[in-house]
Amino acid sequence: MVDITVAFGDGIGPEIMEATLFILKEARANLNIEAIELGQKFYEKGVSTGIPPYAWDSLRRTKVLLKAPITTPQGGGYKSLNVTIRKTLGLYANVRPCRSYHPFVNGLHPMMDLVIVRENEEDLYSGIEYRQSPDTYHAIKLITRSGSERIIRYAYEYAMQNGRRKVTCMSKDNIMKMCDGAFHEIFDTVGKEYPSLEKEHFIIDIGAARIASRPDRFDVIVTENLYGDIISDIAAEVSGSVGLAGSSNVGDDFAMFEAIHGSAPDIAGRNIANPSGLLNGAIMMLVHLGQNDTATTIANAWFRTIEDGMHTADIYNKNISKAEMGTKEFAESVVARLGEEPYKFKKARFHEASAKADAAKPMPVSVHTGNKILVGVDVFIGWNGPGLAELAAIADEASGDEASLALISSKGLKVWPMEADEQTPASDTFRCRFGSNTDRLDASYPPALMARLAEAGLDVLKAEYLFEFDGALGYTLSQGE
Ligand code: NAD
Repeated sequence: MVDITVAFGDGIGPEIMEATLFILKEARANLNIEAIELGQKFYEKGVSTGIPPYAWDSLRRTKVLLKAPITTPQGGGYKSLNVTIRKTLGLYANVRPCRSYHPFVNGLHPMMDLVIVRENEEDLYSGIEYRQSPDTYHAIKLITRSGSERIIRYAYEYAMQNGRRKVTCMSKDNIMKMCDGAFHEIFDTVGKEYPSLEKEHFIIDIGAARIASRPDRFDVIVTENLYGDIISDIAAEVSGSVGLAGSSNVGDDFAMFEAIHGSAPDIAGRNIANPSGLLNGAIMMLVHLGQNDTATTIANAWFRTIEDGMHTADIYNKNISKAEMGTKEFAESVVARLGEEPYKFKKARFHEASAKADAAKPMPVSVHTGNKILVGVDVFIGWNGPGLAELAAIADEASGDEASLALISSKGLKVWPMEADEQTPASDTFRCRFGSNTDRLDASYPPALMARLAEAGLDVLKAEYLFEFDGALGYTLSQGE
C-alpha cells in the first residue's frame, strides 16, 4: 500500500473527492489514504496560510497530495494555499493536459489535444513587491537559468516519454530581453539534445491568441509561471471542459494532484458537480506512483462513461447526452464500466515510460562560472522637485571620481540629458544611472554613493548593481540610451 495525503477541500470539494475515492477504491488502487483538512476552516481560525501544522507532517511523510479545490478568502492577510504548497514543497512543474472530448462533449475545437507545462515557482509569482513612493509600485520578475532549464528539460522529457511530437516555448523576449530572453535561449540550447522533437517559439500574446483560435496546432507548450497560468485557463475554456481537466504539480521529492477548477460554491452541496477534473488528477497521480494498470483501467472506464452519454449537468446536452447524472451517480457509472474500453476515443494505456516522464528527477543546471565585474549602479530616487537638471546636478556632484552620472530615466525612458522639445513622463520616481570611469567599480562604491546621495538630501529608494558577465551586459539599456 502506498500512503497518500488527501484533502477534501471546500465548496464542491468533499462531494467530488468522495466520488473520486469511491472510484479509486472500486478499481483497487493500492492506496492508503490519510485525510487532512485544509483551507477555509483554518483561514477563518486565523491560520493565514490555511494549512495547519499536522497537515504539513502528513505531507512530509507521504510526499503525495490529492487535493480538492479550496476557497481562498478575498482580501489582504490571507496567503494562497496553492502557492504556499507549491513553493514549500518545491513543486516546480505544473502539468495541465487540455483536450477535446468531441463529439461527446461540446467544445470549440474538436481536434484539440495539448499539454501545458508551466514553471511553478518563479516569475512574478515570487511575490516580491514594493511600494517605493506615493505613486510607484515595483514587482520583481524573478527568473533563474537553473529553474528555466529544469522546467524546459521537464517539458522535453514529458514530450519524449508520452509520444508527443512538438514542444512550443512561449515568452515575451521581444520586450523582456533578459528574463524571457534567457528562457528562450535555454529552450533553444536544451532542445538540441532532442533532435526528434519539433521545436518552435511564439511570443506569448500571439501564442495565447492561437491557443484560443487554433489549439489543435499545439502539442506540448512550455512557459513561465504567469503566462502559463493565463494560457492554461484559455486552453481549458476553449476545450469546453473546465470541469473535466486535472493537473499535476511535481517536484523532486513531492507531488500534488488536483482538478483545475475552483471550489464552485454556487453549486456546492447539491450533488451536481462533475468529479471528472479531480478524477483525471487522480489518474495522473496513479501514473506518478507507477500504478499504471489501475490508471489505465479507470481512464478507459471514464472515457466509456463519457461516450455512453452519462453526463453531469455542466456538460449535459440534450442532443448528445443519454442521461443527466448527479455526482454520485456519475461515479457509479464509471465504476460500472471498470474493465470496459472506449469505442471512439483512443484507448488509454499508461506504461513505465509515462511514469518515468512524470517522475521529476534532478536536472543539470547551467550556471555562470565566468568573469563577473561591476561596471555601474542604478539608484532609484524619489523626486518631486522643480526640474531634472537640479536632480542631475546633485547626483553628479555625489558621484565622486570613480563613476559619473550617465543618465536619468523614468519608467524606463531616458529623460536626462534630453532634447529641449522632449516631454518628461509624469512620475515621482527616477532612476539615476552611474557608469564607472574605469573598466570596473569596487564593491564599496554603491553603498558609499548611496550614503552621499542621502546626505545631499535626496530620497534614496533602492539600488541595482550593473554587472558584465564575460563582457556581456547584465542589464538592459533605457529607451533612448
Ligand atoms: P470555479 O472554478 O470554482 O467556478 C467557475 C464556474 O465553473 C462556476 O460556475 C462553477 O459552478 C463551475 N464549475 C467549476 N467546477 C465545476 C465542476 N466540477 N462541475 C460543475 N461545474 C463546475 O471558479 P471561481 O468561482 O472563480 O472560484 C471559486 C473559489 O475557488 C474561489 O475561492 C477561488 O479562489 C477558488 N479556486 C481554488 C482553486 C484550487 O483550489 N485549486 C482553483 C481555482 C479557484
